[in-house]
Formats: sequence, structure tokens, C-alpha cells
Amino acid sequence: LTILGLESSCDDTAAAVVRSTDETSDILASVVYGQSDLHAAFGGVVPEIAARAHAEKLDTCVKQALTNANLTLSDIDAIAVTAGPGLIGGVLSGVMCAKGIAAASGLPLIGVNHLAGHALTPRLTDNIAYPYLMLLVSGGHCQFLIVRGCDDFSRLGGTIDDAPGEAFDKTARLLGLPQPGGPGVEREAEKGEAARFRFPRPLLDRPGCDMSFSGLKTAVLRARDALISEKNGLSRQDRADLCAGFQEAVSDVLAEKTRRALDIYMAETPETPTLAVAGGVAANRTIRTKLEAVSYETGVGFVAPPLSLCTDNAAMIAYAGIELYRAGHRDGLDLAARPRWPLDRSSPAMLGSGK
Ligand code: ATP
Ligand code: FE
Repeated sequence: LTILGLESSCDDTAAAVVRSTDETSDILASVVYGQSDLHAAFGGVVPEIAARAHAEKLDTCVKQALTNANLTLSDIDAIAVTAGPGLIGGVLSGVMCAKGIAAASGLPLIGVNHLAGHALTPRLTDNIAYPYLMLLVSGGHCQFLIVRGCDDFSRLGGTIDDAPGEAFDKTARLLGLPQPGGPGVEREAEKGEAARFRFPRPLLDRPGCDMSFSGLKTAVLRARDALISEKNGLSRQDRADLCAGFQEAVSDVLAEKTRRALDIYMAETPETPTLAVAGGVAANRTIRTKLEAVSYETGVGFVAPPLSLCTDNAAMIAYAGIELYRAGHRDGLDLAARPRWPLDRSSPAMLGSGK
């Protein structure tokens, strides 16, 4: 089964071809055109600019993916496309492109939830079995999920305000680092002393695995302003120490709440779970190391996909398409683009971007 996947829900235009047999899955091609240059001057992703750039690049991206895979459309069994959640203009660009290809080629069309793409990535990379515990930690989301199937997710808890990716991006902005902020903050943190600033670890005193990250950026802002008024500016070391303290706080919260989520999971599910992590923030090495330590401590398996498959890509969409195709999912040319689309059907859709 060979599926072409398209992704355009945020600021990466991506196309990929994934081929699966019953035993293995191979990424035959994965092309990602990042847009960070286009948005750099604005300090964040501008939805209008993103949508236009997706519409301009998708065709080339698809052609490039097919060329890299050494295939033509006649070798493809279905088209999978991110149908949400995300910036509506970008999602629409992808959905329209996929519909065009499906209509012209007669191939089946499958709308994929972007978050399902992230959450199923450990099955693409490591072939892990259902069920597993997923910490999905990205630019717009942060949640613990029991993943029982390609369309069967139960949410155990998550952020009640900002997503960690947002917190990394805002912290980067406060410190004059480029967007998206995660990689820059991580690089600075390597040179910093995490113990110099003790930032808050909210909700650790409460049971359950809900988290809060919005207070953290305010704490970084206050510490930054205190340094600036004290010495009329920030030294390189100050900036590195702020980044290290921030990253330490985020990773401590994620690690501690992962322990709690594993407890809840094990109370509900008899088998020893595998802990898997995905989403852009899962590319962070300090966070990966701390989560791995938690899994080691608690005796559960740990899977973290390679960095390029944690951040947005279309291989994860093509792979989710493969699982959905096998489960019998097909969409018509009336497939709708959905700016909001919670994975857990029981979760309230209106809780805001961080959920
Ligand atoms: P979502 O998947 O929730 O819709 P998104 O698709 O924009 O949001 P991803 O591409 O999965 O998010 O992740 C992007 C986020 O990951 C950004 O906020 C970015 O700062 C963060 N990120 C990327 N690399 C790192 C890193 N090394 N450390 C921390 N954060 C990182
Ligand atoms: Fe994403």
C-alpha cells in the first residue's frame, strides 16, 4: 500500500510518500519546505502569508516527493491530507490541492487529523503495538493520550493554557532569538546554568496530569526585566541562563506529569505500557532525556521518533493515511477543512488552542 501525504496546517509545506506492507513501513520520500524566512520579520506565523505560500508551493512539493520516490501517481493507492486542526487558510490550501489530485487521478482521498499524524508517528518509526501512552507536545498542543487505534484516542490530561511550544516561542521572542523558538532556546540553554533561575513548576501540587505553561513566560519576562534594570542590558550568559532555567522548568513539569499519566494509565490498562513522545517539542534533547529517565525508572518502554519526524512533516500524514485506509476510511470530494478538531471525541472542542 503506497500513499501520498500532504501537510500544510501551519508554516511547513510538506509532501511525502510512504509504503507499507503488513510488517514494515518505509518513507520513500519526504519533502518539507519551511516558511520561517517569510515570517521572520513579523515575529510569528502570519496566517495570510502562510496560506499563500502553501498554495504556491504545494504543487512543486508533491512533484518533488514523487520524483524523489521515483514514482508517478499511477503507483499511488490513495491521497492523504491534513484536514485540520490548524490555520484554516493553510489547511484549505492542502485540502484543495489533494482534492484536485484525487479528482484528476480517480484516487481515493483520506482526510487526516494532524494530531493523529503526530500521535501515530511512533508506529511508523518503531512499529510499536497498540495501546500505548502518548505525550503529544507541540506548538499548539500538549496532552497525554491513550492510543488504542488509528482513530481511537482517550485524553488523560494536558495543558490548561499554553502549549510548551508556544512557551518556547514566546521565551525566544522575549530574549531576541529567532522563530520558531524551540531550537534557539535549546542551543542557548546548552551554554547556560539551569540552577541560576528557579522558575515555577505549576500544578505539581495537584493530582492528575494537567499542566500549565502560561505563567512561565511571565516569570521569564520578570527575570529578564530585573536583569535589564539592574545592569542596563542582558549579557550572553544571562540569556543562556534564562533559557536553561526555562527549559529545566518545562522538562521537569513534563517528566513529573508523565509519571502521573503512567500511573493513571496502568490503573486502567493491565499491560505494561510503552511511553511514546511526539510533536515539535519532542525534538528537545533535554526533554527526551528526562522522559527516557522516567521510563527507565518505571520500567516501561520508550519511543521517541527522530527529530525530523517530531516537527511537522507529511510522512506522518501519509502513514496515518495508511492506517485509516486499512481501517476502511475514505472521504469524498466534499471533505471539509477543520480549524479545530480534537482527537478525543469526548473532549470539549472549545477549550482553546492549547488543548
Ligand atoms: P500543532 O502540531 O500543535 O498543530 P505545530 O504543528 O505548529 O502545532 P510542531 O511543528 O509539531 O507544531 O512543533 C513546532 C513547535 O515545536 C514550535 O513551537 C517550536 O518552537 C517547537 N520546537 C521545535 N524544536 C524544538 C526544540 N528543539 N526544543 C523545544 N521546542 C522545539
Ligand atoms: Fe504539528
